[in-house]
Amino acid sequence: MSGNTSIQTLPKSIDQRPMTSVLPDKIHLVTVVAKERVTPHMLRVKFACANVEPFIGGEMHVRLLLPRHGRLPVWPEAAEGGGFKWPKGENEIRLRAYTIRAVDAERNELWIDFLLHPTSGVATPGADFARAARRGDRIALLGPGSGRLPPSSVIHFVADETALPAIARIAAEVPAGTRMRGIIEVFDEAEEQPLPTAGSLEVRWLHRRYYPEGAKGRLAREGCKLIENADETSFIWVACEKQDVRSMRNLLKTLGRNGEDTYVAWYWDRNLSPVDGL
Ligand SMILES: Cc1cc2nc3c(=O)[nH]c(=O)nc-3n(C[C@H](O)[C@H](O)[C@H](O)COP(=O)(O)OP(=O)(O)OC[C@H]3O[C@@H](n4cnc5c(N)ncnc54)[C@H](O)[C@@H]3O)c2cc1C
Repeated sequence: MSGNTSIQTLPKSIDQRPMTSVLPDKIHLVTVVAKERVTPHMLRVKFACANVEPFIGGEMHVRLLLPRHGRLPVWPEAAEGGGFKWPKGENEIRLRAYTIRAVDAERNELWIDFLLHPTSGVATPGADFARAARRGDRIALLGPGSGRLPPSSVIHFVADETALPAIARIAAEVPAGTRMRGIIEVFDEAEEQPLPTAGSLEVRWLHRRYYPEGAKGRLAREGCKLIENADETSFIWVACEKQDVRSMRNLLKTLGRNGEDTYVAWYWDRNLSPVDGL
């Protein structure tokens, strides 16, 4: 299923300059060391990181700092009184959220799985970075922040493939005995992934490719059914497209389940206007 991909041309925007300046806390420079196909649409990029310690056993999400295409990055500086001074104008940085899929502490590596979502001629800075990344390219990550292990021995997932890296990591890290069920929507069967765990995990995969034309909201409907039937002591974990999340969030509120026992997040927005500047 996996193997090193061929490496394409090096875009000018990727930083290969020597590391000189001191970056603010929480911003980590990382260097691409390998790329592997996980599935036809999921590309794993492995990064070397000087200190992987902050990424172990806590929050699992980061933001990628992406300069505009064709520009050498100007990384943010620490601002007085906390926060960052972000570069402006042509040096503006775009931020995209991703999950640290795995941490290899022995090799000092972080892995991120990028969904190569359809482009049709528009800029997709996150996916484009993964497509073009070459060994030796340097990028910055902000984090980690958010996304802890659900504190429950029973977990129900409703997700699409953007959340597969997070689910895979949760499955890999939960203690033995944790019982998990999930509905996960992917393009087709080739996008399914094994999700090894010390607990048990039963997944019902939905294949978008075979939905009737114009079909909408299938994941949200199936997710609502799962939520309605879930034991109220279980943890509900929802992450997918913004509109799909909405009805599940409303249902959870109606059921009084909007507290410590849920994680509900939209991971992408189908109505987002793509950024300009390919
Ligand atoms: C906490 C968190 C963790 C995440 N972890 C991961 C992860 O590990 N791996 C991963 O691949 N994604 C992950 N995502 C989702 C990812 O951040 C979004 O898909 C993001 O929009 C990708 O940025 P982009 O620059 O490629 O496209 P954008 O510039 O954001 O969008 C460009 C166009 O592509 C469309 N688009 C964006 N995402 C998708 C999609 N999934 N399917 C179809 N069209 C899309 C938009 O509607 C827009 O029209 C995560 C999101 C969050 C909030």
